[in-house]
Amino acid sequence: MADDCVYRTAITRLDVSDEQRALLEETISEWKRGCQIATDLAWNRCQAKSDVQSLAYDPLREQTDLGSQHAILATHQAAEAITGCIERRSRGEKASTPRFTAPTVTYDSRTLTLFDDETVSLSTTENRIRCPLVLPEDDDGFQWRFLDSERWEVTESTLTADGDDYFLHLGFRRPKSNNQPNTAEDGTVLGVDLGVENIAVTSTARFFSGRELHHTLSEFEKTRAGLQRTGTRSAHRTLEQASGRQLRTVRDEMHRVSKGIVTEAVRYECDRIVFEDLTHIRKRTDDAWGHRWAYRKLYQFVEYKAERHGIAVEQVDPADTSKRCGECGFVTDANRPTRDRFECRACETEANADYNAAKNIGLRYVRRGQQSSRRTGDGQLALKSGTVTPNSGFTAYPDGFEAEFTDKRRCGTTPPTPSDAGCWSHRRS
Ligand SMILES: [Zn+2]
Repeated sequence: MADDCVYRTAITRLDVSDEQRALLEETISEWKRGCQIATDLAWNRCQAKSDVQSLAYDPLREQTDLGSQHAILATHQAAEAITGCIERRSRGEKASTPRFTAPTVTYDSRTLTLFDDETVSLSTTENRIRCPLVLPEDDDGFQWRFLDSERWEVTESTLTADGDDYFLHLGFRRPKSNNQPNTAEDGTVLGVDLGVENIAVTSTARFFSGRELHHTLSEFEKTRAGLQRTGTRSAHRTLEQASGRQLRTVRDEMHRVSKGIVTEAVRYECDRIVFEDLTHIRKRTDDAWGHRWAYRKLYQFVEYKAERHGIAVEQVDPADTSKRCGECGFVTDANRPTRDRFECRACETEANADYNAAKNIGLRYVRRGQQSSRRTGDGQLALKSGTVTPNSGFTAYPDGFEAEFTDKRRCGTTPPTPSDAGCWSHRRS
């Protein structure tokens, strides 16, 4: 695990001929078989990459059509999968023997070469093939960001099949500026807005409705207020029973929402989940005790669920985040004609108000990193359609990224660090 590097993944579709498609299909199939053979050999015997490699390399060369480097990579993949299983079990989670079913194959700098003419050459079970990358029309951002840059080098990458289409998840890395520990400056941030109508909305436009919860909590608060006025011993007992039941419902709901938020952060390869400062939330919820309790629970649940994925959870001052335009930065009360709508007076951006706030909360954190004295910032905010940084602007995910999100994370190949879903930069200068 090279913690002294910043990782980015750029996803691009490949333009492949029928012949190349057949070769890639065959390579993926042999790769899955190879990983499985290596895993079955090493299971209960070893888990270190070097051990699995020396145990399984020869059998892989004999039993599959994988080339030498792909055979080595397959043994490493097996080692990672086994290690992942053992770790999950040590945490008391269920983990069955790894099965390699995802239509993917791993590449490294020996098996993949990127060329300046926007083509890539890939090792297959037979010859190397060379095919064009299908870049978005405005591809100068991509060139600028990774290919033409001395700073970024290609690292482990993954080829994924989706029907007849092939997507390359190009891994890039560069050394961290002045060897700081992983900070906001170098990460992808998921902003989260908390509210009543929507209990949570992420900067990637995932909405968690708060209607049910609001109903439960209102009932609870009514019961609570009524019984407290009564003040008798039996009223207390009734309160305890009622609160036990209702708070359990809220707790379950907060578990569900926290899981959703963390899943969203993992899916968009975020390093940080950023909430507004919880002490400020009181103002927006009319001092409702139940809601504040719910938000505190939610925050705690997100924090401990995120930790398992190496994702940090932070809070920022939410001042103006509800009336600032997430697109142009213009701030005025008039940007919020109703509680639900956001309509920027300056740039005419219209959005759901909570979604706009979620973007602002995330951006505030990213900007904080960029305004630090070191100015080493390479942080970005995860949006549904791409990422955004304060300096270089919006970066769209290429077509197909959305489809990719529906795939299960490939077994045993989490990136070396929580990496960032950085893609093509469409610079708005
Ligand atoms: Zn605006």
